[in-house]
Amino acid sequence: MTLDNIFQKVKHEHIRFVRFLYCDNGGIIRGKSAYAPTLTARMTGGIGLTVAMQAMNSLDQLQPMKGMGPVGEVRLVPDASTFRILPYAPHSAAVLTDMTTLEGNPWEACPRSFLARMELKARALGITVLASIENEFSLILDDKPWDDTLCFSSQGMLASQEFVDELAEDLDHQGIVLEQYYPELAPGQHEISVRHQDAMRAADQQIYTRETIRAVAANHGLRVSFAPKPWVDQAGNGGHIHFSLVDEAGNNLIYEPHDPYQLSPLGYEFMAGILFHLPALLALTAPTVNSYQRLVPNTWSGGYSCWGPDNREAPLRIASPLKSRESQSVNIELKAADLSANPYLALGGLIAAGLDGITQHREIGKPALVNPDQLTDHERQIMGIVRLPQTLSRALDYLTQNPVLTDALGDLLLNSYVAVKRSEVAFYDDKSPDDIAAWHRFRY
Ligand code: GLU
Ligand code: MG
Repeated sequence: MTLDNIFQKVKHEHIRFVRFLYCDNGGIIRGKSAYAPTLTARMTGGIGLTVAMQAMNSLDQLQPMKGMGPVGEVRLVPDASTFRILPYAPHSAAVLTDMTTLEGNPWEACPRSFLARMELKARALGITVLASIENEFSLILDDKPWDDTLCFSSQGMLASQEFVDELAEDLDHQGIVLEQYYPELAPGQHEISVRHQDAMRAADQQIYTRETIRAVAANHGLRVSFAPKPWVDQAGNGGHIHFSLVDEAGNNLIYEPHDPYQLSPLGYEFMAGILFHLPALLALTAPTVNSYQRLVPNTWSGGYSCWGPDNREAPLRIASPLKSRESQSVNIELKAADLSANPYLALGGLIAAGLDGITQHREIGKPALVNPDQLTDHERQIMGIVRLPQTLSRALDYLTQNPVLTDALGDLLLNSYVAVKRSEVAFYDDKSPDDIAAWHRFRY
């Protein structure tokens, strides 16, 4: 959309505020709103933001971080293509922004610019990464699950039909293509999936989808939890990432009809890179203390490092393709991911790890065809299957020691991210499991 189109829409639709949004190191969606009469200057010049905000954790506790003190500003500069009228908010629109220096260059601590860099790296190899992030969430009334219906149950559909209808309408209004809806396993838990896009659009879409689910629920008097584990004794909320690789003509580069699982050598190498780096990548895809309350065996979230065709206990699953649409539909799913993640960091990290698999020709090893938790220690050892990190602290250790991911992130983004995350680890250190879940319940 051109700037002129945006200004016309703002006028025509009587928009008062345009939200300049970003997602920070703590996974929180934040922003500032431009009042419509000031928009012309803001769309090109951006809105000022203190450099300190990327050192702010998800509890609004500012962390000491070199270069992110009280002095200094960056700009939130909108990507005009992300402009959306917000159907759920009166006279309001939004844009997603990049953090730039005052001179207009990408700021090293900007998560969205990190993903743009990783997309460019993939394009240099003739690869475009397509992705879609699934949305599992809990509808909550008076701090309790809103319904007690069963997994995929039609009674759950009945209970939620007005909410889902409005959600579909509002997503459609923003050009987000909804593909499926269903009630999920836990009381109050529901799920929607949306059409895949190139990685940047998929991350942008995740921000808008999260905002829309939250707002539509509020219109129905409900609160939403995107927390990985809103209650310790109930199923967690995943944010599974589906991905595939295409060339410039849109051909699926991970499809190979003669392979038993219809995956190409390139697809296996990309997946092998992700599996190899997974203990470190988790710090970006499962990035909260609450994430590790979810990421345990036998909860279909992927607690062991392995891969398998349609294996829901494997963090990497080859999703079996749809009959007669094999080449378009074969894709890989990373289950060890949740919606407390910053989607730009999660997808950027996933691409960096996958590309390393390609450039290093990493081998994937044998698939797990059973639940890895039911193998003996010896069987797991033979197959090279190990338990993934069981705490955020451990995943951060892996991240800081991982040259591929640390190089990709760059010093300022890495150091501010780790400072924010380590401070959250410290904050939750003396909290009980129930309290940790409660603190995270409405944070994202
Ligand atoms: N809720 C599960 C999770 O935490 C996933 C269930 C499924 O969709 O397979 O990832
Ligand atoms: Mg699900």
